[in-house]
Amino acid sequence: MDASADQRDSVDVLIVGAGVSGIGAAYYLQRDHPGRSYVILEARGASGGTWDLFRFPGVRSDSDLHTFGYEFRPWRSEVAIADGDSILAYLRETAAEYGIDRNIRYRTKVLGASWSSSDARWTVRVENTETGEAGTVTCRWLLSASGYYRYDDGYAPDFAGRERFGGPVVHPQRWPEDLDYAGKRVVVIGSGATAVTLLPAMAPAAAHVTMLQRTPSYVLPVPTRDALNARLTALLGDERAFAITRRMNASRQVAIWRFCQKYPKAARRLIRYLNAKMLPEGYPVDEHFRPPYDPWDQRMCIVPDGDLFRVIRDGTASVVTGHIETFTEHGVLLKDGRELAADIIVTATGLNVHALGGITLTVDGDPVRAADRVVYKGMMLSGVPNFVFVFGYTNASWTLKVGLIGENFTRLLRYMDAHGYGTVTPVADAGMPTAPFTTFASGYIQRAIDHLPRQGTRAPWRISPTYSADVKLLRRGRVDDPVLRFDRVKATVPS
Ligand SMILES: Cc1cc2nc3c(=O)[nH]c(=O)nc-3n(C[C@H](O)[C@H](O)[C@H](O)COP(=O)(O)OP(=O)(O)OC[C@H]3O[C@@H](n4cnc5c(N)ncnc54)[C@H](O)[C@@H]3O)c2cc1C
Repeated sequence: MDASADQRDSVDVLIVGAGVSGIGAAYYLQRDHPGRSYVILEARGASGGTWDLFRFPGVRSDSDLHTFGYEFRPWRSEVAIADGDSILAYLRETAAEYGIDRNIRYRTKVLGASWSSSDARWTVRVENTETGEAGTVTCRWLLSASGYYRYDDGYAPDFAGRERFGGPVVHPQRWPEDLDYAGKRVVVIGSGATAVTLLPAMAPAAAHVTMLQRTPSYVLPVPTRDALNARLTALLGDERAFAITRRMNASRQVAIWRFCQKYPKAARRLIRYLNAKMLPEGYPVDEHFRPPYDPWDQRMCIVPDGDLFRVIRDGTASVVTGHIETFTEHGVLLKDGRELAADIIVTATGLNVHALGGITLTVDGDPVRAADRVVYKGMMLSGVPNFVFVFGYTNASWTLKVGLIGENFTRLLRYMDAHGYGTVTPVADAGMPTAPFTTFASGYIQRAIDHLPRQGTRAPWRISPTYSADVKLLRRGRVDDPVLRFDRVKATVPS
């Protein structure tokens, strides 16, 4: 649906973003409230969000798809770590299968939304990203499924001497379709998920690929295929096998995270052992694979079947740890005097995190500054009526939370319908102690932490650290929470 093709300008629920979160949220809404109208406004010309935007070589998940896929639509493959195209196809097939794609309005960017208590409605300002034409849509509920980073540009520090380098300098968020790296020397700056993906993907064609990192990350080899899922599928069929695999993998993610938090030294030793086993004899493991922080203090990098270690072993790729002094005409000069020759430099230096898709909110004329608000159950904001946002896990599959938020939201709507309530607002006690949105130490999060909402120190204001805690809070917890203020307004469309 194009921006101009649908004239409806008033809906019950307006969802911002047609990625994993927006498509997932729409599913739960239409399943549990088929009588409610909704629209998904999507700034881009296509659905899929992250999985449509990122096109660098080798782009793939680092979660298993049995938990990254939706609970309601089995991932029917034993390939657990999947490539970007397969994930994109799965998302689009899901949207088509449930008719969600008919409700997506493309090239429609949400700029701002104003809540009016007297109308019990949001007025949402939108812009057609092709023509610049402005418009408004009103809704009873606003659901932000806009991801967590800016789409217009990735993060790249201001490297000295950048203009001296004659070759292409490429950011993975804007990968040129025609970039020819065959037989070229490539330096990839970074040590995160993208960098460890690029090395094995580019090494077979490139002359050599060097990962230049300032600080090492934890790198964990995992199998690409889920052998147990394959056996279960043969035995029980793919639906039941998927359900069991999903439950087991979700529990395993929680267990690994807990183990790392509780026994960081043992976790460090174990990861080092796994790394050393896959690296050449005498390799300086501690120089390149021993981070100064504990496992899971930052997102851990996974490498399917140890592919990163394979290209290091066969000599087509290598890792250098050091600080950049300047780009030069021929590559990168490090502060310790080493020079890395390059024909292409890739700045895999991260994302620009921002809250709520850059949408400015006001409530009865007062601007909402995300940093002044406290999150309720990790899905609403204090003092902001009829507003839900989706921010998935950073220590587990993002989608696990999409499902729980979807369920909780539709339960909340059902409760409100049953009691004739039209609006709900989380109300935080003044002076309640708060903490940053997350303690996650990754650079991309910490650069934005002052602009993100805060969390409380106890439920329901504290963001659950794990999926299992959220199952209790969001799936089983009560929705008639005393900290929610419900107001009666004229009846909404019944479900
Ligand atoms: C390369 C890469 C690999 C990843 N791998 C994993 C993984 O394996 N496991 C995992 O859990 N997480 C992973 N992540 C994190 C990943 O982004 C999320 O898991 C998930 O894809 C986020 O989905 P989303 O729908 O919330 O956001 P997005 O995918 O970012 O989609 C948001 C959508 O909202 C739209 N939008 C934003 N603002 C507006 C606006 N103002 N108006 C209209 N539309 C707007 C965007 O255009 C976009 O289409 C990865 C991230 C990257 C970059």
